[in-house]
Amino acid sequence: MKFVLATQNPKKLKEMSAILGELGVEVVSEADLGVKIEVEETGETFAENSLLKAKAVMEATKLPAIADDSGLCVDALNGGPGVYSARFGGEGLDDTGRYRLLLQMLHGQADRRAHFHTTITCAFPNGDVLQDDGEVEGTIAFAPMGENGFGYDPVFFVPDKRKTFAQLSAEEKAEISHRGKALRAFKETLKNYLAEHQ
Ligand code: IMP
Repeated sequence: MKFVLATQNPKKLKEMSAILGELGVEVVSEADLGVKIEVEETGETFAENSLLKAKAVMEATKLPAIADDSGLCVDALNGGPGVYSARFGGEGLDDTGRYRLLLQMLHGQADRRAHFHTTITCAFPNGDVLQDDGEVEGTIAFAPMGENGFGYDPVFFVPDKRKTFAQLSAEEKAEISHRGKALRAFKETLKNYLAEHQ
């Protein structure tokens, strides 16, 4: 069975193809099919946004479509920036600007608890929907540390490892990350779904 991944990011396609390839399914990107679907992420949750994306791409391509949505939720910010993680602080900021803004907003704040969340959704043309989540708990560091990764990685501190995400290798991060957990859960869910439907 052929699936389309709702992304323009070749790294995400490679990662999903590697995981789902083990189930004998083929994953192609929007670009491979010559489509580029712009979806307004109007949902208030990761689940809503990933469903909006998956459905839009499924409707455009008539193939089962997989989409994910992730973000950083900080307790002292009532779960923010959450679904607004990529847009935190407005268009003018890059990754560094966004985590600097976060550090400023938490200046003097003793409660540094935070978690990353990912929801992966697969929408099928017959209306079936599969959804899985992954989370990782941590704290917001007082200053950035490490060079790896992207986004908020330099300020996301994992107490068990005594390192930020940016101080972990890609493999170490994938073992514990929200995304890694969601991907592994989704692989199991899809495996069971395919066993029932083939
Ligand atoms: P996306 O839904 O995977 O595109 O993630 C949305 C935003 O959340 C990204 O632009 C990052 O700002 C943030 N984010 C998600 N996952 C991570 C991560 O593993 N490390 C750092 N930032 C992340």
